[in-house]
Amino acid sequence: MLVIFGLSRKERPLGLIALGCAVCGHPGPQSLVHRRTRFTLFFVPVLPLRSRLETRCPQCGTTRTITRTEARRLGADQTA
Ligand SMILES: [Zn+2]
Repeated sequence: MLVIFGLSRKERPLGLIALGCAVCGHPGPQSLVHRRTRFTLFFVPVLPLRSRLETRCPQCGTTRTITRTEARRLGADQTA
């Protein structure tokens, strides 16, 4: 019997938030994404493994994980 399993990673953009970059000092807004990882069985997502919010600097590409509370405080309208 052949069992095909793996991981599925998806990103959903949530907009821009007002946050400066701690690495390059870029003062502008950063994009906020919701990244989810799920266990898949026969290419069907069956079990959520990880869910987190990340910001990405448009200048240097640095990503940073933030909490939902912090995202709401910084002006994100929808944090899923
Ligand atoms: Zn940066």
